[in-house]
Amino acid sequence: MFSTLDTERFANRNPSDEHHGFLFDSVQGEGKYKRVTNGTYGRSGAPAADKYLKTGATFSSDCFDDDVRAAEAALKYIAAFHRYTETTVYRGKISIKVNIPQVWMQSGGVLVGQKMLREPFIENFQKFNSNSGAADVTATVAQALSHFSYHASDGRELLCDLQGGKIGDSYVLSDVVMMSMEKKFGNTDLGSTGIENWLSAHRCNQFCCSGWKNWSGARQHFQPVFSTTTTLEAATAPAIGPECVRVRPSAIMFTHDSIKDGFQDGHSLLQTALQIAREEVGKRDIPMIAVVRVGDGRLFALDNRRLAVFRLLEMCGRVGTIKVEIVLVWTRWADEWKRKVTTRNGGISVLIRGGRYRIGRNEQETNYPHTWLQQIRKERDLKMMPDDHFSIFLGTFTDE
Ligand SMILES: [Zn+2]
Repeated sequence: MFSTLDTERFANRNPSDEHHGFLFDSVQGEGKYKRVTNGTYGRSGAPAADKYLKTGATFSSDCFDDDVRAAEAALKYIAAFHRYTETTVYRGKISIKVNIPQVWMQSGGVLVGQKMLREPFIENFQKFNSNSGAADVTATVAQALSHFSYHASDGRELLCDLQGGKIGDSYVLSDVVMMSMEKKFGNTDLGSTGIENWLSAHRCNQFCCSGWKNWSGARQHFQPVFSTTTTLEAATAPAIGPECVRVRPSAIMFTHDSIKDGFQDGHSLLQTALQIAREEVGKRDIPMIAVVRVGDGRLFALDNRRLAVFRLLEMCGRVGTIKVEIVLVWTRWADEWKRKVTTRNGGISVLIRGGRYRIGRNEQETNYPHTWLQQIRKERDLKMMPDDHFSIFLGTFTDE
């Protein structure tokens, strides 16, 4: 299907004679896990867009290479979509291109040596759809292009997260996402689940062809979000299963600003930490703590009191990492998620209600009584519990 296509005329690349440029601080927008700023090309002075990793992102800048690959992979679908529209009444009326970014390196300033993405600047940026299936239904051509990519790849891939603006007579897309059955395009490629989810939300329009491949009975797996790109990949934490990662409790943030000092069974946080240190509660078959990974990569706990207990155990040397389940903003979690995020310090620490004590990422950020921490440290003999024990305990204590 793609072999005879001239894809290059659909690429909007950096000028080939531009190899350096200037950066500005003005933030133009935010995408995925990136910050977008304005820049100019060194020779022509023409405007450019630069993208950096946000501070605190847990992805490595290798994800820039994924972005370049996704943009290059999008070209053939855009070219084939044009060839299709030439056979319809819309012949000659549609012109879409895609920005192909390059990975550049900063040669000066405080971020010298850091990678960035550079691509031509686009004005009047608009978002047409997202990788989680949200869509601006008035942007009919964009929705059809995404559906077409699924058809043209014989159900292997989906081009989405379509956004961009007009340059001359063309719509130029930027920061597109490719999703694939093999999940080969990095953090924002949500795999077959993401493809099914996207198609479950898609409604065909006049630019779609009834003969295109579709996913009949496609199910919705997570909440379509329009403003952000949903990321799934556990980039820095070692993946255990498709949705589980093993991380230090201090790398998980609180969603609440304050918590009660106790669980429904009447035990306080300290008593619970001691129970775990004594391994009194390790044996029950209990589900894992659930976390949400937000757009910039940070993990947030849906179980604040359990996280507080884990943090105490970690700072006392009783636990290294815990296994947690990453939940997307699934339909069943969406309301709970919104209700829960009350933290005012990014989830770094949490106040125990009653006012006096705060639990942070380490002992310095924590003002829990020293003697209590000593108790946790000394409970039974001073051994680190096997990581596996921590995947199961405390699930029966609810967080409300
Ligand atoms: Zn369609």
